[in-house]
Amino acid sequence: MAQGSDIEIAREAKMQNIAEVGAKVGIPQDALLNYGPYKAKLSWDFINSVQGNQDGKLILVTAINPTPAGEGKTTTTVGLADGLNRIGKKTVAALREPSLGPCFGVKGGAAGGGYAQVVPMEDINLHFTGDFHAITSANNLLAALIDNHIYWGNKLGLDPRRIAWRRVLDMNDRALRSIVNSLGGVSNGYPREDGFDITVASEVMAILCLSSDLKDLERRLGNIHAGYTRERKAVLASELNASGAMTVLLKDALQPNMVQTLENNPVLIHGGPFANIAHGCNSVLATKTALKIADYVVTEAGFGADLGAEKFFDIKCRKAGLKPSAAVIVATIRALKMHGGVDKADLGAANPEAVRKGGVNLARHIENVRQFGVPVVVAINQFITDTDEEMAVVKEIAAAAGAEAVLCSHWANGSAGTEELAHKVVALAESGSSNFAPLYEDSMPLFEKIDTIAKRIYRATEATADSSVRNKLKGWEADGFGHLPVCMAKTQYSFSTDPALRGAPTDHVVPVRDVILSAGAEFIVAVCGDIMRMPGLPKVPSADFIKLDEQGQIQGLF
Ligand code: ADP
Ligand code: MG
Repeated sequence: MAQGSDIEIAREAKMQNIAEVGAKVGIPQDALLNYGPYKAKLSWDFINSVQGNQDGKLILVTAINPTPAGEGKTTTTVGLADGLNRIGKKTVAALREPSLGPCFGVKGGAAGGGYAQVVPMEDINLHFTGDFHAITSANNLLAALIDNHIYWGNKLGLDPRRIAWRRVLDMNDRALRSIVNSLGGVSNGYPREDGFDITVASEVMAILCLSSDLKDLERRLGNIHAGYTRERKAVLASELNASGAMTVLLKDALQPNMVQTLENNPVLIHGGPFANIAHGCNSVLATKTALKIADYVVTEAGFGADLGAEKFFDIKCRKAGLKPSAAVIVATIRALKMHGGVDKADLGAANPEAVRKGGVNLARHIENVRQFGVPVVVAINQFITDTDEEMAVVKEIAAAAGAEAVLCSHWANGSAGTEELAHKVVALAESGSSNFAPLYEDSMPLFEKIDTIAKRIYRATEATADSSVRNKLKGWEADGFGHLPVCMAKTQYSFSTDPALRGAPTDHVVPVRDVILSAGAEFIVAVCGDIMRMPGLPKVPSADFIKLDEQGQIQGLF
């Protein structure tokens, strides 16, 4: 392939000073708090000053179920934002910030790819503006305050066996998953079982991403369940006087970050919660601020539409009062072939029949997103191996499910490759056909919410759970948490809970293994399968090849 690697393309970018980029959407220079020439946070004064503006149109980019063949949601989000700007629509993309730890495990960044990328990409993938460090610190401050409270007499009666708060680190480190802390004698406290999650799995991350302002952030942090007493009464972070200090640590981190695409269009990158035990979208503040300054905002939700779009609609849009105008479902012919039963090694060969067979996955996602009242267009993210015949099959499948499919070559051609998609998105958004509503009412009982998602989105016969799980849910309903939305944690590879079931499985059940209350983030997590909160490194981690070259440039990261 003639095209250079992502990092080679990113290095050739002619970045503009961030003030120039901001000016395109009317952001004055003094509203940008600079982190060097190419990154800036938006000031509170500016965020407050645009509140009276009319909202632009919100476009969600989601996808079919991921396969090892890759789909390209971020790449398409960036490509579409550039395409919309190209056809004269003032557009801002709103994206998640990638986690640092995984960069040293498997090679590959998360700031788009090819000629649809966000820059400066090394910064974005590594330390960026320090938000994740702030989140790590705030999380671990609460952890330290919990053990300190026990050490100094434990007035609140925290049961050391029932501490609900873990420590975090932005590193893939399996050695820390389960630990015993406070060893070493009387002056080090009371030993207890503990463990680390990766920073993006912290409830503080989910809270930061759902908070509407600093006051709301502090309120939510205060509501975190730090642990329970012997009588199983919750002890809140606010009772440990933690929320004020945690908010201080997060005050700058709550301000959205601005960077640019390779084509010098503005992008807000802010927050990056897990897409399993959390909702997997960038911050509400970034999305809402973008809507105030742009005609169009393009945003991405994690994983496939069964998880990402459902949570975007049922958690983020419900809570933030957002009304998406249209959704783009990204599909690749390679991935559809895998859904049709082809092995990764055989993806290079043309196989329209496999595309047709795997197309059931795309069709179901189209139907699902349309259930929310949001009109859909399919973006076929073009790979060089795709054939005309295969593309025709995808168009046919999409049309039968009620959506047009458009071929996009942004990875190879930048905004020129998404012009057609941009026109279709504008036509859908301006048709006013969106009639968005979440899937279920706040008032529906918690287990029924889970069952509704299982039936209507995963097309399962039912959701099942032991009485211990059902009793936990009933207890939370009695304690006033029954109105919360549910956050499904299941495999991203299948509509079912079995990652091997590709395509569009039917007649499956969704067993709910456990439920977790995120009282600060304000959702209830339904755990349906093994959920990893602290990844490990592979046998040959990419860290083996990462170094600085003679020019001081990073090698081996992407
Ligand atoms: P997602 O957001 O769905 O996880 P990304 O947009 O981050 O996916 O893309 C994953 C990887 O696939 C990136 O490294 C990107 O460069 C690559 N990629 C995306 N689209 C294409 C394409 N059309 N051709 C080749 N590689 C692509
Ligand atoms: Mg992505």
